[in-house]
Amino acid sequence: MKIVKVEAKNIRYQSVMVRDGEGHSHPGKPHDAKVGFLTITCDDGTEGHAVGGNMMVDVLNRVVGPALIGEDPFMHERIWQRMRTWQRLHSDFTDRTLCAMDLALWDICGKKCGQPVYKLLGGYRDKVPAYGSIMVGDDIKGGLDTPEAYADFAKKLVGMGYKAIKLHTWMPPIIPEPDPKMDVRACQAVREAVGPDIELMLDPYHDYTRQQALYIADALAELDFLWMEEPMDEHSMSSYVWLTSNTPLQICGPETMEGKNRMRAEWIKADAADIGRAGTEVTGGITSVIKSVHLYESFGMSLELHGNTIGNLHVLGAMGIDGKYYERGLLHPMLDYETPKPWFKTIYDPMDSDGNVKIPDQPGLGWDFDFDYINSNLC
Ligand code: MG
Repeated sequence: MKIVKVEAKNIRYQSVMVRDGEGHSHPGKPHDAKVGFLTITCDDGTEGHAVGGNMMVDVLNRVVGPALIGEDPFMHERIWQRMRTWQRLHSDFTDRTLCAMDLALWDICGKKCGQPVYKLLGGYRDKVPAYGSIMVGDDIKGGLDTPEAYADFAKKLVGMGYKAIKLHTWMPPIIPEPDPKMDVRACQAVREAVGPDIELMLDPYHDYTRQQALYIADALAELDFLWMEEPMDEHSMSSYVWLTSNTPLQICGPETMEGKNRMRAEWIKADAADIGRAGTEVTGGITSVIKSVHLYESFGMSLELHGNTIGNLHVLGAMGIDGKYYERGLLHPMLDYETPKPWFKTIYDPMDSDGNVKIPDQPGLGWDFDFDYINSNLC
C-alpha cells in the first residue's frame, strides 16, 4: 500500500467566532472564514483526512506532500520521525501541521483495518468523562462579563450533565490588566453555584508573576479545585518548580511549550508540575501524545489532555484513568456547541446525561464529513 496523493485545501464557511488580539476566541458577528482540510490518498483508493486545527495548508502541499508520495502509511512511525526532524529548518512547519498529517495517516490505517484508531493504539475504554471548558471571559452583556455570569452558566452546565467544569478567565485585550482577585471571585462564585460535588479547574491568564500565580493557587486550594493550568510563561520551568513546591493545589502542565515528549521528560525530572499536559494539536499528533502517555504512566503521574480534538478522544480510549477527562468546549452562553460545523453531518463528541463522551467507533478516526458541503466549498 502506497500513498499516491497529498492535497490540502481550505473549506469556506460562515463563522460566528472572532479572535481577539491575543488569539482567544469569542462570539462575534457572522463573517467569511476558512478552515484547512487535508486528504491523503493511497493507491487502493483509501483516503485519510484531517480538518481544522490551524493546519498550514501551504506547508502540507509544499513540504509534507512530496515527502509522503510512495510511502507505506503503515510505516507511520518512520514517516512521523522524519517529518519531526524536518520541522527544525522549516520554521512554518508547526506541530499543528504535523498533527494534521498524523491524523490523516491514522485515519487511513484504521479504515484499512476496519477498526477505530483507539483500538489500533491498544484500546482501554470506550467512553470517557468530559469536563465543560468555559471560554475566556469577555465584556459582552449576556456573555461571560462578571463572576456571576460564570456562576449562572456553570449551573446550566451541571444541568446538562457535566460533572466537572473548567473556567478560562479574563485576559488582555478584554481587560487592560489581568486581575488575580477577579479570577478568584469568579472561581468562588462558581464553587458556590455548583456545590461541593462538581470538580473544578482554572486556566487563567498565562503570564502572571510567581506571586500572583501563588495567590490564585492557594485560594483555589481552599475552594477544593482539582487543578490550575498555565498561570505563567511555561518557558520558565523554574517558576513552575517554585509554584508547585509552594502551593497545595495541583499544577497541570506544560500545555503550549514546544518540545513534545522530550520537553515533558525534562519537566517530570524537575518536578515542575503535579499533573502532565499534552494534546494532539499542540504536541504534533496522536503519535506524539502516545509517547507522553507512556512517559507519564512510567512515572506514576496523571496526564490530562488539552483540547476538544477527535485525536484526543482516541488517545483517551487507549489510556487508563490517569487521563481523567476529555476537554469539551469551548463553551459560552451565546454559542451552540451541539450543532455540527457545516463540514460535519454530526458532532464527534456528543455527551450523555451522565457526562460521558463515547470514543468514536467507526473505522479510522470516525469523522462524519458532509462531502457535499466540503466539495462545493473547497478553495
Ligand atoms: Mg489550557
